[in-house]
Amino acid sequence: MGATRALIHLERFRRNVRAVVHLTGRRVCAPVKADAYGHGAPEIARAALEAGASCLAAALVSEGAKLRENGLDAPILLLSQPLPCEIPEILHYRLCPLVSDGDFAFELARAAEAAGVRLPVHLKIDTGLGRLGCSPEEAPSLAARIEGLSPLELAGTATHLAVSDSADREDRAYTEEQLVRFGKALDAMRSSGLDPGIVHAANSGGVMLHPESWFDMVRPGILLYGYDMTGAAGKTSGAGVLCPEPVMELRTRIVLIRNVKKGESVSYGRIWRAPRDTVVAVIPAGYADGFPRLISGKNWEVGIRGRRYPLIGRVCMDQCMVDLGPDSNISRWEEVSVFGGNAPDAGELAAEIGTIPYEITCNISSRVPRVYIE
Ligand SMILES: *Cc1c(COP(=O)(O)O)cnc(C)c1O
Repeated sequence: MGATRALIHLERFRRNVRAVVHLTGRRVCAPVKADAYGHGAPEIARAALEAGASCLAAALVSEGAKLRENGLDAPILLLSQPLPCEIPEILHYRLCPLVSDGDFAFELARAAEAAGVRLPVHLKIDTGLGRLGCSPEEAPSLAARIEGLSPLELAGTATHLAVSDSADREDRAYTEEQLVRFGKALDAMRSSGLDPGIVHAANSGGVMLHPESWFDMVRPGILLYGYDMTGAAGKTSGAGVLCPEPVMELRTRIVLIRNVKKGESVSYGRIWRAPRDTVVAVIPAGYADGFPRLISGKNWEVGIRGRRYPLIGRVCMDQCMVDLGPDSNISRWEEVSVFGGNAPDAGELAAEIGTIPYEITCNISSRVPRVYIE
């Protein structure tokens, strides 16, 4: 194996899952879309189920298929809208689509009928994200339509929250408004004699800040991977305390150590010049591995032997450089935490470049092997 790999701490992931199960007392659906936010879907899915999750969620049909091919037998929700040509695979792999409209429900029913199978689906209601889902007003008639298409079974009803991770007053009010709309749609369904099945709405922000969004099942993603976007982690709220642990660490090794004289530059663009004679380590992690080039010239420190050392100069495609200082006793081939481990985590890296940890972990490229640690 090469020097650069993503260490995936499975027991931390399991602890995060157990903490959500314990906090909410609800069923947990583990989102493992985008290869489990870059952590590796089959391994993470297995760990989620071991830790008490009751179902999985994928975005793409191909992601659901990969889970089945790897022997995962739990229910798999399909969060994104598939194409009609993907319906045979949905049936073949027993995926559970979220349905936003009657036309697609009809297409699903026709194919399920022809295949001679029953197909559980969840009704998706748009209460204010402005993405997938029917309007709250349409929900009872769409639910009735689904119930009327005999191979379909209305197994659940869902919505998705737009600003649940924000503690800002206006955002909290918006989330409450979304939940009121959702509640009204559920009431209307029930008073027409329709059973909504498993009701779910909470993403990570919902789990952390909005207990009233928990319903029958929660779907936190980023929280299970160890990042709290709300600032509520570790604080006692009405709901309890939760301290997620980051699951991914980007690890590499020093491949070369060089002496750099005062005034000499390092890397493309010459944005860094040595302020004094110093020793520089070359590490083989670059933007092609998913270490973002935007961190160049910002404040970032990697971890080596429990100490922090500044990243210097531009991040290249395959490499970047670290200033070890003039008197370092660090040697060639030593281990380096690029983020996570004894470096700051992916959440801090994201904050430094104005993005979110989701994008950091999802972007760790396929050439970086995932190494699973218990
Ligand atoms: C991705 C996703 C989630 C999980 O979101 P997080 O912000 O990672 O908690 C939940 N529900 C849906 C529909 C999603 O697409």
